[in-house]
Amino acid sequence: MTYHETVIIRAMNRSRFTVQQGQAVILAETADDRPLKEPLRDREGKIALSGLSLSELKQFMKSLGEPAFRADQIHSWIYAKWVKSFDEMTNLSADLRNKLNEVACLSALEIATLKVSRDGTRKYLFRLPDGKLVESVLMCFQDRDTLSACVSSQVGCAVGCTFCATGYLGFMRNLSAQEIVDQVLSIQRESGKRVANLVYMGQGEPLLNTEHVIDSIDTMIHSVGIGGRHITVSTSGIIPGIEQLRDENLPVTLALSLHAPDKQTREEVVPITRKYPIPELIKSLKQYVEKTKRRVTIEYVLLKDVTDSEEQARQLADLVRDLHCNINLIPYNPTFAEDGAALYDRPSRDAQVRFKRLAEGSGKTVTIRLERGTDIEAACGQLHNAYKE
Ligand code: SF4
Repeated sequence: MTYHETVIIRAMNRSRFTVQQGQAVILAETADDRPLKEPLRDREGKIALSGLSLSELKQFMKSLGEPAFRADQIHSWIYAKWVKSFDEMTNLSADLRNKLNEVACLSALEIATLKVSRDGTRKYLFRLPDGKLVESVLMCFQDRDTLSACVSSQVGCAVGCTFCATGYLGFMRNLSAQEIVDQVLSIQRESGKRVANLVYMGQGEPLLNTEHVIDSIDTMIHSVGIGGRHITVSTSGIIPGIEQLRDENLPVTLALSLHAPDKQTREEVVPITRKYPIPELIKSLKQYVEKTKRRVTIEYVLLKDVTDSEEQARQLADLVRDLHCNINLIPYNPTFAEDGAALYDRPSRDAQVRFKRLAEGSGKTVTIRLERGTDIEAACGQLHNAYKE
């Protein structure tokens, strides 16, 4: 099945809307009798339009007795002009704007806090309608025109990687596709800047929320306007999720957070390894590459005296030699235990470079990630929903 065929089938399964007694509600069943996907609502129960696809907006406008072209207009206001209210949608009649204000809201995500780093990185803490919190990051690079955003796919995370602050929160719930897409829209509305690159590398394991992540990628590509080549989905190594992503044939990059090349260390650092061992993981990546013809990225966090030995660099090189991939080394960013002690140490710059040279023995391109926003705890592994009234 082609990517476009899967898009059409997914679109057919999306939820429908109607209006009863002045309240927008979803119909009981979809066309093919499958269970409905609940649209996002704000705390007053109004349906949020930000993050809906064009076909969902059309269904919603139909439920209000409005022609389909109104959905195109609203879609353009939300996705191209980043308006902050229905009142800014000046090509809609005043009556329609009033009606929208009664039954719908633009966004159900509130910015609880916003921190701006010395390097320009912006970290957003979003409050969801149920009061739960998630973080997203906007990274600005002086040498690049484009901006990159890092979005969350779950509230908390069940995987429990030992170097990651999110892992210590535990798992609370999956985010809906709309909640994922609206992180990007909210960032664009607040910053006034266009997100051109996107990584699913914030809080949560995207491939334990595959259905919503895949739906959100559709909307990112077709509505937000981010090219598939500029979207990366990062996983700790959930093999069924990798297989699903492979079969969807989405035009995105897959990144594996490997973090250790040997069984013992990886089981310690990324506990899900006990369920999905390294050899099977590499096999599933090779199958992914074979089917999609796309290069994967191997992410590797450098923890001093844990994952940064010369022996491990050689093991890493051997492990990925036959895999079509790049390697991205991530020097550890400090996260802290409750007593304030750093969980691990970051290797020296010399140790990072030494590891890189040995890993290049694989014949792959190896880079050391330029970290952004460490002073506001916005870098990889540092997201933990800190919030004070
Ligand atoms: S690194 Fe990713 S998968 Fe691991 S605990 Fe953190 S959020 Fe979860």
